[in-house]
Amino acid sequence: MRWEACVSVRGRLPLDRYIEGVLAGDRVTLARAITLIESELPADGELAARLLDAVLPHTGNSRRVGITGVPGAGKSTFIDTLGMHLIRDLGESVAVLTVDPSSPISGGSILGDKTRMERLAVEDRAFIRPSPARGHLGGVARRTRETILLCEAAGYPNILVETVGVGQSETAVRSMVDFFLLLMLAGAGDELQGMKRGIIEMIDGMAINKADGDNRHKAERARVEYAGALHLFPAPADGWTPRTMTCSALHNEGITEIWQTILEHRELLGSNGHLARRRSRQALDWMRELVTLGLETRFRADTRVAARLADVEQAVRDGHSTPFAASRELLGLFQPKEK
Ligand code: GDP
Repeated sequence: MRWEACVSVRGRLPLDRYIEGVLAGDRVTLARAITLIESELPADGELAARLLDAVLPHTGNSRRVGITGVPGAGKSTFIDTLGMHLIRDLGESVAVLTVDPSSPISGGSILGDKTRMERLAVEDRAFIRPSPARGHLGGVARRTRETILLCEAAGYPNILVETVGVGQSETAVRSMVDFFLLLMLAGAGDELQGMKRGIIEMIDGMAINKADGDNRHKAERARVEYAGALHLFPAPADGWTPRTMTCSALHNEGITEIWQTILEHRELLGSNGHLARRRSRQALDWMRELVTLGLETRFRADTRVAARLADVEQAVRDGHSTPFAASRELLGLFQPKEK
């Protein structure tokens, strides 16, 4: 994180340098380009938009895989092992991104601070970028989507996006990937693992991790149970039936099979037209989200709104004003400017 901060302090490059460096797969320029899109300075925003426009024709070719699971499920170990499989066995490079909006409760990130993915971290063919430290989910998700595009333009054929199985970040990650994998543990309570209907409906695959040692049988039993539970859901429209698997990220067992499943999924959705459909739906959702984000930014920047916002919020907190009346007052103050 400290290093990234240094990069942004060093200032921005001319647009051409970003474009050339990213397209050449230069890691340092890629890192700086991501810092640029993470910046909240309006001038950086302009440059970032031009950079994204310029690289757009070189995007879209990667396998975008989302990985979720509760803390401790083994996500970083899994990504480390899968990444090494891609690099060593298949000779491919991999980019790893994380979506970890800082939690309003803990005030800090769940995925960020420990040493993670130790083998990948020293591989030249792996590019690891943690979630931006600040910001709400909407902003973090926007930057991650744009980072996916930059990584694709830089030639990474595999992009793994990790998120924590708590809160709403899964929905955000689901909306930016082709395949969404849920890592589970055998024996932990379902409610602990976010086995909510919502998550199950989002996944393309589930892997019970830590299927090793004494845990092997328990993991297999859990797999069978979950497979039964998944069958109760209506068949997905894209023609793919979500798979349940077991693996040991620590002992590199079942990882190849999971990757094969991801490739199979890709092939099916590529041939039946659903990959393109999924991505175009995602693009449309993304645009709508950007409009919402943009409106909110303008709303908050409006001087009349800004002057009243704290008081109105306090009035709602104190019960002196209803949320409905307060929102009408603030929206009434908002005067969008012609650009
Ligand atoms: P994360 O919080 O989901 O990223 O989980 P980690 O990858 O940090 O793993 C949490 C703990 O579980 C660590 O101590 C790992 O060594 C351990 N772990 C991860 N995968 C496996 C596995 O396949 N088998 C066993 N036995 N332990 C594992």
